[in-house]
Amino acid sequence: MDANRTLALFERLVEIESPSWHEAEMARACEAELQDLGFTVTFDGSAEQTGSDVGNLIAHRSGNADGAVAFSAHMDTVKPCAGICVMRVEDERGEVLCSGGDTILSADDKAGVTAIFEGIRSMLEAGGPLPDVWVILTTCEEQSLLGSGALKAADVPQGVDCFVLDADGAPGSVVCNAPCHHTMDVAICGKSAHAGVEPEAGVSAIQVAARAIADMQLGRLDGATTANVGVIEGGVATNIVADACSFQAECRSLFPERADEAKRQMTDAVTRACERAGAHADISWTLDYPEVACAEEDAIVRRAKRAIEACGLSFQAVRTGGGADANCLRGLGVNAITLGTGMANFHATTEYIKVQDLLDDARLVEALIAEYAGS
Ligand SMILES: [Zn+2]
Repeated sequence: MDANRTLALFERLVEIESPSWHEAEMARACEAELQDLGFTVTFDGSAEQTGSDVGNLIAHRSGNADGAVAFSAHMDTVKPCAGICVMRVEDERGEVLCSGGDTILSADDKAGVTAIFEGIRSMLEAGGPLPDVWVILTTCEEQSLLGSGALKAADVPQGVDCFVLDADGAPGSVVCNAPCHHTMDVAICGKSAHAGVEPEAGVSAIQVAARAIADMQLGRLDGATTANVGVIEGGVATNIVADACSFQAECRSLFPERADEAKRQMTDAVTRACERAGAHADISWTLDYPEVACAEEDAIVRRAKRAIEACGLSFQAVRTGGGADANCLRGLGVNAITLGTGMANFHATTEYIKVQDLLDDARLVEALIAEYAGS
C-alpha cells in the first residue's frame, strides 16, 4: 500500500461530483482505473430501472491462483457534494480528512472505492499469486439501494465471497447481522356514498385503514424486529365516504421467521378490519432484500478475521438495523458481508475519516486478496 498514492486517489475521486442518479463521471473514472489494473469492465442495464445516468459497474480480472474474491462499494453520494475540497487536519481525533465544512466529505463511499483500487494495485505490484477478482460498484445506494436492487443474478459472481466496504465502524469491524426488509402494499376498497345524504350506503376505506393500522404492532417489536406504516393516501372530499385508501408499510428483522410473524400480524389486522366493515383489500408483500446472518465460525467471517488480524487490526462482529448493498447481493447469490471503513459522521457536513483508517482499508483489501489467493 502506497500511502501518498492512496491519499491522492481518494482526493481525486472525492472531487468528482456524483450524487445519486448522476454517477456517470465517477463511473468513467472507475472504469479507467480498473482497466489500468487489467480488469474487463462492463456496465449492467440497470440505468433504465434506476433512472441513473449510468448502470452498475461490474469488473472482473482473472487470476493465476485458484481462489476468487469480490469487492463492492457504491459510486453515489448524498448531497451537498458540489465542489468538495478535502482538508487534512490534525486535532484531538488525530490526523483526519474532512471537507471544508460546506459539503459532505463523501468518504461514504469513496473511501471504500479508493481502498479497493489501491489494495488491488499494490497486490499487482507485489507480483505474487492472485485470485480471480471481481469489483462491483453500484449506483443509487443512497436511494434505498436502488442500484444494487436492480442488479441481475446473471451479472454477478455466484457463490463468491464479497466484501462491501461501506459501513461506519473502524476497519476490522464486520457487519455479521443485518435485517431482511419486506414492503407491504395495501389497497382498501370500500364503497363511496354521499356523506350527508346517505352515509349508511357507504363503506369508508379510510376508516377501515385506520382500524387496521391501529390494530398493528408497530415500532420496535423486539431487539431484532421493527415495523412501520410510512405512507397513506385516500379520499377525495369531506362530503364523500371514501371508497379507496391505500398505504405502504414495512417490516425488518434480523431473523426471517420473526419478520414472517410480523407480516402475518399486519396482514391479519387488515383482513379483520375489512371483514368487520364489509370492505375488500388487495395486500401484497415484497421481499426487498434478505437478511445477512453470519456466525463467527462461517468461512467468510473466519477468512475476514484472518485478513484483519494479518493487518494488525482487531476483529469486531457488529449488527445493524439497516440494509446495505450486501443484503441485495445476497439475494442474488453472492456471499456478501459489509466491512467498516472508519467513515464517521457520514451524510453530514462534519463527515470525516482518519487518515490511518483509509490506509488500513487499503491494507485490508490487500490482505483479503492474499487470503483468497490460497484457494
Ligand atoms: Zn454508503
